Amino acid sequence: MAVHFQNTYSRSLEPFIPLDPAGKTVRMYTCGPTVYNYAHIGNFRAYVFEDLLQRHLEARGYDVLRVMNLTDVDDKTIRGSRAAGKRLHDFTQIYKDAFFQDLDTLRIKRAQHFPAATEPQYIERMIAMIGDLVAKGIAYQAEDRSVYFRLSKFPDYGKLAHLNLDELRPSGRISSDEYEKESVGDFALWKAWDEVDGDVKWESSWGPGRPGWHIECSAMATALLGPELDIHCGGVDNIFPHHEAEIAQSECCTGKKFVRTWLHCAHLMVEGQKMSKSLGNFYTLRDLLEKGWTGREIRYALLTVNYRLPLNFTIAGLEGARASLARIDEWVTRLAERSAGLPEPTPLTSHAEKFFAALDDDLNISGAMGHLFDLIRESNRALDDGALATAQAATLSQSWARLNGVLGLEREAAAIPPEVTTLVEARQQARAARDWKGSDELRDSIARLGWTVKDTKEGPKLTPLAG
Ligand SMILES: [Zn+2]
Repeated sequence: MAVHFQNTYSRSLEPFIPLDPAGKTVRMYTCGPTVYNYAHIGNFRAYVFEDLLQRHLEARGYDVLRVMNLTDVDDKTIRGSRAAGKRLHDFTQIYKDAFFQDLDTLRIKRAQHFPAATEPQYIERMIAMIGDLVAKGIAYQAEDRSVYFRLSKFPDYGKLAHLNLDELRPSGRISSDEYEKESVGDFALWKAWDEVDGDVKWESSWGPGRPGWHIECSAMATALLGPELDIHCGGVDNIFPHHEAEIAQSECCTGKKFVRTWLHCAHLMVEGQKMSKSLGNFYTLRDLLEKGWTGREIRYALLTVNYRLPLNFTIAGLEGARASLARIDEWVTRLAERSAGLPEPTPLTSHAEKFFAALDDDLNISGAMGHLFDLIRESNRALDDGALATAQAATLSQSWARLNGVLGLEREAAAIPPEVTTLVEARQQARAARDWKGSDELRDSIARLGWTVKDTKEGPKLTPLAG
């Protein structure tokens, strides 16, 4: 079976065929964080799912061209920067840096592009797209000087969420803050400057203001990936109105179908309840690290539930993740240590093929993990019986490397002791001073502590000495 996905738009399981005539490049856009705070594990559930998606497509031979945006201007970032007494850029930079650290902690592969909404070329493009929509009569400037998208001009609005547009029209009184719009569903493309925005504003032909959140994604996605995307992902809470709005804006500008496959991951709950600060079950990644869980364990817990099912994140689940990882580690070690046995071929590698076939089926990760643990159980039994040949163990080790290319669950690299770090820093200083003798002596001292240091373009790299 080729790769199949459950497309939110069609609500059916479809074979995946990228637009690229060579069938190789996959253009993928994933809505990224709003950088006003540390991302929470609900956010990371989506990012880990997207990482699995990217890694599996790569395992199947595709080149994934991926973009993840950073929303660094909106109500929340402006409010946060004012409360912190910082300029918007300085305020969001703190959370951009933290976000990249968190991605590394969870072993999430970097996208090729992380465009930020406030970069001048994207602001320019947002203004150009809004201008195009106004010229086409699809957008209008209201009395409050903001520019809105005229929903009545896009009959497909609501099709992704499978909503009837008529249901969006309220029967009762329209709330006062929406009175300027022609229709209550019309959403803002350009928000006219307001006093609370402080110095956050850009000039436009509609006066000073800032872009709406939805147009940010349409502009950055089409700027970097072109008018047609293969895959667009996010959490289910992004579907309406954000992704509906992205479709409306993009398709009215380009005249092309914006996205072929929409994938959305379900909610995350904590201990069976909606995560909320008032319930005290609201976790950022950092909160969990402080409690002693590792990025790898948290990744395991977020990764191994099928993305379209709600994920109940629990401490028991993290304990289970720790136990499963210990089981994988022990197996990997046993395979590596295997040195003699019977030279007969093993059918065990077929489990690895089943692992990938399960992922082809709309990323069925729980099925895939089932095949991995079948493989572990059966090869452990063969190891117990002395019935696993060296060559077989080597083949299985290679299979694990392939599977792990998708899972990203390898053992943590050994932590570098502080005294080694100090010696490496001293050696860098010796090298800078062209003190080669001193540098060599320091390298020997580092080796005595069990580490080798290699000089690379990116600086010194440390690896633990074997044994
Ligand atoms: Zn978006």
